[in-house]
Amino acid sequence: MNLNLKHTFITELPADPITKNTRRQVSGACFSYVTPQQTSKPELIHVSEDISEELGLKKEDLKSEEFLNVMTGNSALDDTKPYAICYGGHQFGNWAGQLGDGRAINLFDIKHDEKQWTIQLKGAGETPYSRQGDGLAVLRSSIREYLCSEAMHHLGVPTTRALSLALTGDEVMRDMLYDGNQAYEKGAIVSRVSPSFLRFGNYEIFAARQDHKNLKTLVDYTIKHHFPHLGKPSKDTYIQFFYEVMQRTLDMIIHWQRVGFVHGVMNTDNMSILGLTIDYGPYGWLEGFDFGWTPNTTDAQNKRYRFANQPNIGLWNLYQLANALYPLIEDVKPLEDILENYKTGFEIKSLAMMKSKLGLLENEEKDQQLIQTLEDVLHLVETDMTIFFRKLSNFKKDNSINGFQLIQDAFYSIDSITDTIKKQWYDWFDLYHFRLEKERLSDAERKTKMDFVNPKYVLRNYMAQLAINDANKGDYNLIDELFQLLKQPYSEQPEHEKWFAKRPEWARHKVGCSMLSCSS
Ligand code: AMP
Ligand code: MG
Repeated sequence: MNLNLKHTFITELPADPITKNTRRQVSGACFSYVTPQQTSKPELIHVSEDISEELGLKKEDLKSEEFLNVMTGNSALDDTKPYAICYGGHQFGNWAGQLGDGRAINLFDIKHDEKQWTIQLKGAGETPYSRQGDGLAVLRSSIREYLCSEAMHHLGVPTTRALSLALTGDEVMRDMLYDGNQAYEKGAIVSRVSPSFLRFGNYEIFAARQDHKNLKTLVDYTIKHHFPHLGKPSKDTYIQFFYEVMQRTLDMIIHWQRVGFVHGVMNTDNMSILGLTIDYGPYGWLEGFDFGWTPNTTDAQNKRYRFANQPNIGLWNLYQLANALYPLIEDVKPLEDILENYKTGFEIKSLAMMKSKLGLLENEEKDQQLIQTLEDVLHLVETDMTIFFRKLSNFKKDNSINGFQLIQDAFYSIDSITDTIKKQWYDWFDLYHFRLEKERLSDAERKTKMDFVNPKYVLRNYMAQLAINDANKGDYNLIDELFQLLKQPYSEQPEHEKWFAKRPEWARHKVGCSMLSCSS
């Protein structure tokens, strides 16, 4: 492997002087040096060739013993010093203090084609930030992270990437539902890739400790490497920096709403400073269109991170970041203006996104109302979001196709459609038909545009679970099948039509499909 190592994080930011790997509070430092744990029988399950190319890796590299050993933590590349990053965070609305990379270890930073990347292992053992955890990850959650990171990338949603998925050969004890039933599961490691793994919580921890010197050092570093166009550090630059983070966060969440992705744990330690989807834990995909849905059983009571609340939580999290950056700016007004801007930006972008899903290019006064009515109708009975929007693109301007019949595959139970509900659907299609008359595009042109924003294939919760079931028995074919399928989520793939289907009934209340906890 011939990678262009370019360490910036560990050379430009303060290191924890203690190198002993003990759990503790680490102050005055951005990271601690750690060595990944040795694994007993590492075995590669899958590699993402797309991202490997972006890193400058060759096909033969991916098959080498060295790649396997490095990506499972069993050996380190020469001139590299793995490290775990210190961060804090607000979890479920409360300040949780120091968190940090408890089971992630950054191997090295590289530069390829003018792009900077950090390669990180998730599940490679304890760090000073492991708190009560073991620093390890199990196969099921590693498969979920691996498949979803790459699927999101191909959907055009900003995300961290996944390079490899490997078994460690070791067993890991987990209480999957936090109900006292502990069991051994297969241990696994995902190697993740991102320009940076910095989170809101990295800035919050210094602000909380009133360590303004290191806060400034970290913000200046972030701007220098990840927002270089903003120029030299100054109060104005910091304000501009916050503005960009706000925009990127908003754009990411609008994408989530577009494809029906629910992150599940939008704590500030899981909010990337680059506006990337990060830390795939108890995430899920909407099946029935449901504003109130969350896959995370840990959040079942309050549903803080439910689908429709993601945009509000994005704003709440940005407030926490604004508070953290305040000591460098010392002026509330510009920060408040930016947060206000998020709200207006959300209204505008959300409307544009929903219009694109409906194939509407022109601006009409009642568009918002048309969308609102649709969202109401979608909630009447369980209606599959992905199937509904995908089928909708076949509607015709001249109303020659019955809309209700066109989309009826999206209903989970056709028996639950009463006459009143049916009428509401017919009424909505009348509005839609009337509205389409104002559009200039032909049916075919509109369909092409709609099919590019409404995916045909997403990683439905049960699909990941099927791949997990097989993998637990040592069969990895389905991981590859789903991986290949999800590389082209917007394309018709007739050979894969079976994945364009509603969630099967067995998966409705199944653990891993609709119920996921933070245990991973
Ligand atoms: P998450 O909910 O996965 O974002 O994790 C929240 C915090 O818990 C982070 O600091 C993680 O590094 C840490 N954490 C989660 N799982 C483990 C584990 N198995 N061992 C050590 N730390 C963990
Ligand atoms: Mg996390």
